[in-house]
Amino acid sequence: MADKAILYDPTRCTACRGCQAACKQWNEREGEETVNRGSYENPPDLSPQTWLKVEFKELERGGKLSWLFNRRACMHCTDAACVIVCPTGALYHHELGFVTYDKDLCSGCGYCVDFCPFSVPRSERNRLTGVAKADKCTLCTTPGLDRIAGGWEPACVKTCPPDALIYDDRDKLVTEGKRRVAALKTNGYSNAHLYGEKELGGLHVMYVLDDSPEVYGLLTDPQVPVAAIAWKDIIQPLGLALGGLTILGLGLNFLIARQAKLSRELPGKKEE
Ligand code: SF4
Repeated sequence: MADKAILYDPTRCTACRGCQAACKQWNEREGEETVNRGSYENPPDLSPQTWLKVEFKELERGGKLSWLFNRRACMHCTDAACVIVCPTGALYHHELGFVTYDKDLCSGCGYCVDFCPFSVPRSERNRLTGVAKADKCTLCTTPGLDRIAGGWEPACVKTCPPDALIYDDRDKLVTEGKRRVAALKTNGYSNAHLYGEKELGGLHVMYVLDDSPEVYGLLTDPQVPVAAIAWKDIIQPLGLALGGLTILGLGLNFLIARQAKLSRELPGKKEE
């Protein structure tokens, strides 16, 4: 079965935030209390209740003020750090290629939160159980709310008025993305770039950028953290084989996960 993906074109995006609202509505996410921070951008960050948000960025380009919009949500990587480190299989690749999630299987270990190079999964401690299960975009495949199984496109795509979001076979979207990038270059955007074609084995959310990724606050060369690979290939098997060393493995993993989190930097993303 052909991989499916989303193509996001910020040059067509009007930042209406219809996608953000549709994501919340379809996936039954609660609204969050927000404050006026002097920007149309709200809430300030992703959260277990906000799986998709539209970012606003003002900057000077070529002596003119530019207002850039950006979609921030799961990138649905082929080489997905969250899938690599998830010890219970709660995060896994859907048969259509993107990364989906079965929250019932989540143990609340938080490794996906610590290792995702894009800082996407977020967790929230349940007041009754004390378990902090993760949450993130499932590309509308959450059990009971599965639009894809019903033959529909994701809610964010369905709602986008100017078709800044398209859902289709990934191969077709790569071709369309390249066509748009070529058109941008012809019109003087020499740094135009199709982001996500090759990054992390190929993302299932790709971006038609009219400038370099860092201008949009995207990682130029995202990588699966080495510590994540070490956890999967060395520490976890060692812990399972030696039983008593599991706790040691978990302790070591906790330390390297924290280190991975501390050393990770998202260009353009500031602490609130
Ligand atoms: Fe942009 Fe479409 Fe989302 Fe509106 S719905 S913010 S135009 S991507």
